[in-house]
Amino acid sequence: MEAKDDNSSVVKSMHGPLVKRSEVTAGLAYSDYRNELRYDFYYSCAYCTITEYEAAGIRFTIDHYVPQGNTEIDVHAYENLMYACDECNLRKGNRHPPASAQEAGFRFFRPDKDALLEHFSASGVRVNHVTNTGYYTIQSLDLNRQSLRRLREYRERLAETHEYVVAGIHALRHVRIDRFPKHVRTQVLNAIKSAQEAANEREEEIETTLRDFARSPLLDRDPDAETRAKERTRELDQMKALHPGAWRTPRKAANSA
Ligand SMILES: [Zn+2]
Repeated sequence: MEAKDDNSSVVKSMHGPLVKRSEVTAGLAYSDYRNELRYDFYYSCAYCTITEYEAAGIRFTIDHYVPQGNTEIDVHAYENLMYACDECNLRKGNRHPPASAQEAGFRFFRPDKDALLEHFSASGVRVNHVTNTGYYTIQSLDLNRQSLRRLREYRERLAETHEYVVAGIHALRHVRIDRFPKHVRTQVLNAIKSAQEAANEREEEIETTLRDFARSPLLDRDPDAETRAKERTRELDQMKALHPGAWRTPRKAANSA
């Protein structure tokens, strides 16, 4: 193998899918794959690339690429699940173009099978389509919505990395060290230094660092949630016992007069 310096070994092309799926146990409830999805999708939305860290108040959800209700495939299988921000998921809804349209390329981009820069290009803070898949995805999900233009502006200020502005955190593992955002650069450099032994290991450490950067601890599973929920229910039940009466506003039921 040819010896390369640190920088050039990190330079990679952006050709090929960015998301590599983990091996998972098949047949679980789709919501049980949440943590694997978060990891595999770099804690980022499959469609708009916003990271948990950047998303602040926006919730993250599990999207069914082929929508629920479709009977032709197992929609809850891991391969059909995407990690997506609530905004993209809501806009995507149950859209599913007919076969003829899909054959012509009018379908949603998917980062586990498609290469991002084959379908999208950037012009400033806007994304443009390169293919029909890019076009359909931009139009359906409004990928030039204000919040995303602002996000790209924010990224532009962090790093002059064209790919990062468009492709998000995924792109950072494909670019030169000097183009990483300043606040993660040291971490990434340390990661590279401490993993000189093998190129693969080095790559893994970079990925770990980037994942740590993208991830919001607020969205991690709370191991005590169940215990606390039980306690809270008990406390509330005691309150209810002390003060009997309606503790909730009745929902406007269908049978209400
Ligand atoms: Zn999104």
